[in-house]
Amino acid sequence: MFYSHNEAELMAIGSRIGQSLQAQDVLILTGDLGAGKTTITKGIAKALGISQMIKSPTYTIIREYEGNLPLYHLDVYRIGDDPDSIDLDDFLFGDGVTVIEWGELLAENLPSDYLEVIIDKSSDGRQVAFKAKGKRSKELLESING
Ligand code: ADP
Ligand code: MG
Repeated sequence: MFYSHNEAELMAIGSRIGQSLQAQDVLILTGDLGAGKTTITKGIAKALGISQMIKSPTYTIIREYEGNLPLYHLDVYRIGDDPDSIDLDDFLFGDGVTVIEWGELLAENLPSDYLEVIIDKSSDGRQVAFKAKGKRSKELLESING
């Protein structure tokens, strides 16, 4: 469990996660609107060597960035009840890292191995907790916890 007092600290947690990521890793970001899912993704992107500005994919559903590893940044809030409208496999079996805001809405369409990152508001700060599903995600979580 990590705690951030502000946006910069939440990005730093994202960078810490980003440093441990490998191709085909999948992160599900869970948290209310404004919890900080996009903010933590900015930190992940920084650690992946991405210099482009990360914009919320709320309306585009998917944004792709080039870094040391490609980053596939998805926000599935708008398609949550119709997951067939995107082909997740294009990302999950690609060369990059997949980060899915509101990924829990995909339910049974999720891959068998993913790390869930749960962001909760606590007054001005944010708590960040993890749930690892599958072998690789457990390994990833150990690496994040150091
Ligand atoms: P989401 O993608 O989960 O909807 P965003 O990352 O887009 O959330 O937005 C988070 C919002 O919360 C930003 O406007 C940010 O300024 C604000 N905020 C306030 N306190 C914090 C904090 N401690 N950590 C991160 N963001 C914070
Ligand atoms: Mg967002």
